[in-house]
Amino acid sequence: MPNASSKRDFTTHFGFRPVDEEAKQGMVNDVFTGVAARYDLMNDLMSAGLHHAWKDTLIDKLHPVPSMRLLDLAGGTGDIAARFLRRGGGHVTISDINPDMLEQGKRKAIDAGLPADRIEWLVANAEALPLPGGRMDACTMAFGIRNVTHIDRVLGEACRILRPGGQFLCLEFSHPKNAVIEKLYEWYSFQVIPRMGKLVAGDGDPYQYLVESIRQFPDADTFARMMCDAGFSNVHYRPLSGGIVALHTGWKV
Ligand code: SAM
Repeated sequence: MPNASSKRDFTTHFGFRPVDEEAKQGMVNDVFTGVAARYDLMNDLMSAGLHHAWKDTLIDKLHPVPSMRLLDLAGGTGDIAARFLRRGGGHVTISDINPDMLEQGKRKAIDAGLPADRIEWLVANAEALPLPGGRMDACTMAFGIRNVTHIDRVLGEACRILRPGGQFLCLEFSHPKNAVIEKLYEWYSFQVIPRMGKLVAGDGDPYQYLVESIRQFPDADTFARMMCDAGFSNVHYRPLSGGIVALHTGWKV
């Protein structure tokens, strides 16, 4: 019989707000359903276009080849998948828990003339993927992992679906170490982004969540340790844009 001190805490956070673990995913889904139609526009505005460079850096590191099969987790509107295919990748499964985000991605893929026979769209929770183990050559996740309820489960699934020798690449916001950059970033995040969201998308609340969720995400060293705990080897990260973002990589051996 577990005593009081060994009881697991079933609360987590939605932005800065403590919430029941069971409630969080629904709240996150509401955020992305609300922003789906304006997601790409807001991404361009909020990051002043920088998210394109961050995603390009991930693809440079991945180095796609025609035989490569990629699973892009929390793939949203398909930015990583589009880059992967344009840069010579073979087949991509774009997986996301939110069908509204994938719907935007499907339209974008058609408009961009991407080869439909090399894309699969999959509505799935990254914490429990309906995919066999050991088949994917690579797995990516861009700006998705800070939104999930159980980071350890997602990392475990990413490791499980990779073949031995496969690579996991994860882009996520991080915590700048330089005090000046940190201050400027703090001001921009909390004073500008929610206001921009209200002005452009008509609602600041989803963007308030987005900036709070960035603050709640572990620092890059802690996240690297979590990747090691999940079974990845040769785990590294590279800070981008003064540490505002980090590109984490690890291999399944
Ligand atoms: N990867 C895309 C990009 O970089 O533009 C989209 C990133 S968007 C900030 C976060 C995405 O994570 C959303 O599309 C959301 O639906 C998805 N997401 C949140 N929780 C998830 C989960 N548990 N499993 C899969 N996707 C999830």
